[in-house]
Amino acid sequence: MRQSADVVVVGAGAVGAACAYFLARAGLSVQVVERGSVAGGTSSACEGNLLVSDKEAGPELDLALYSRSVWRDDLAEHGPKWEFEAKGGLVVVATEEGALTLSALATRQRHAGIEVSDVAGPDLRHYEPHLSPALAAGAFYPQDAQVQPMLLVAHLLRMARELGATVQTQTAVIGVLRDGDRVTGVVTSGGVVAAGAVVNAAGPWAGDVAALANVGLPVLPRRGFVLVTEPLPQIVRHKVYAGEYVAGVLSSDAGLQTSPVVESTPSGTVLIGSSRERVGFDRSVSLPVLTSLARHAVGLFPVLRTVKAIRSYLGFRPYCPDHLPVIGEDRRAPGLWHASGHEGAGIGLSVGTAKLLAQALAGTPTDLDLAPFAPERFASDQLEASRG
Ligand SMILES: Cc1cc2nc3c(=O)[nH]c(=O)nc-3n(C[C@H](O)[C@H](O)[C@H](O)COP(=O)(O)OP(=O)(O)OC[C@H]3O[C@@H](n4cnc5c(N)ncnc54)[C@H](O)[C@@H]3O)c2cc1C
Repeated sequence: MRQSADVVVVGAGAVGAACAYFLARAGLSVQVVERGSVAGGTSSACEGNLLVSDKEAGPELDLALYSRSVWRDDLAEHGPKWEFEAKGGLVVVATEEGALTLSALATRQRHAGIEVSDVAGPDLRHYEPHLSPALAAGAFYPQDAQVQPMLLVAHLLRMARELGATVQTQTAVIGVLRDGDRVTGVVTSGGVVAAGAVVNAAGPWAGDVAALANVGLPVLPRRGFVLVTEPLPQIVRHKVYAGEYVAGVLSSDAGLQTSPVVESTPSGTVLIGSSRERVGFDRSVSLPVLTSLARHAVGLFPVLRTVKAIRSYLGFRPYCPDHLPVIGEDRRAPGLWHASGHEGAGIGLSVGTAKLLAQALAGTPTDLDLAPFAPERFASDQLEASRG
């Protein structure tokens, strides 16, 4: 079967769904092609934090602040659909040395436009009554928020469909159509879709989709586990995490890093993370990692010691070697656009990414400079390493 659209979006995760919505809103005809089910990739194996607190000044923070404006201005009325909660984030540290590091980070972030207030050790319990009294200090970030990622994807796609987009699931993209260098559509397991532009929103598999057009993209999977408790009365009010989490996020080490990250959900369950390790797409469950997550979480909230964990899950963050996403047209294969590599922030950054990509694709000036996210920015050794 041969179909056509202005734009084909490959992948129906948070990023693909947001792109479909903003592209359709810009008046383009959009076809989403997903090889599995809606939100069947990392977007159903994550948490839904929209964080500015874990970012240093720079392009990723700029994108996070921009995305925040999109959540707030473009999508505010839809917030209840995906359980948007402007709950704020509390970062805590256990030592005086950690307090100095956190305070220095907060100062840099303030200069970059983040709202943050220092919290003295004794005041932490005003924010979180069940926190361990052993903690030294903290910082509160009122701009941090939370959504339910699977509801987000489902509703964005429904909203895109209402604007005329089509969504084809259980259909894999297996090749691209070319006219010289130019990418002019995709070959799928169900036929051919001709398109003026192809958006690669394939998450941790974006490197494979890029390879179909013979371009290198060093997006690699970075595995993470989440432990889920039984439903509880609300004992955790904010997103709460330990100061060393920021170092883990920014690390490029392939080895295992864990640090406590805890938040409740509207259903009453508490989500406990976080772990990061580069072990390919290995889906085996690691008891040592889950044990470490539980131990760390009890360190922050001793009340969790007697609470039951009812399940765990794992997902693969789409990691780029410089910790920045890839957003924009690929000059090596005109017509191919990328929206991927958001690592541990792809839910929060999805909507800003999508709005910027839709602007660029429509040929209008973008609200934020996309140069730091250029697909061709990687050195040849980074591309080589991602192939090996
Ligand atoms: C444990 C964990 C916790 C996290 N917590 C957070 C958080 O709190 N906040 C946050 O912002 N981010 C978080 N993240 C990161 C976030 O989940 C990802 O950045 C985000 O889900 C990426 O979305 P995506 O749409 O790019 O990728 P995905 O959701 O993986 O979607 C890509 C889709 O492309 C499809 N696909 C792949 N290849 C093809 C093909 N050839 N043809 C057709 N379809 C294809 C896949 O099936 C998949 O459905 C977390 C990640 C993990 C693992």
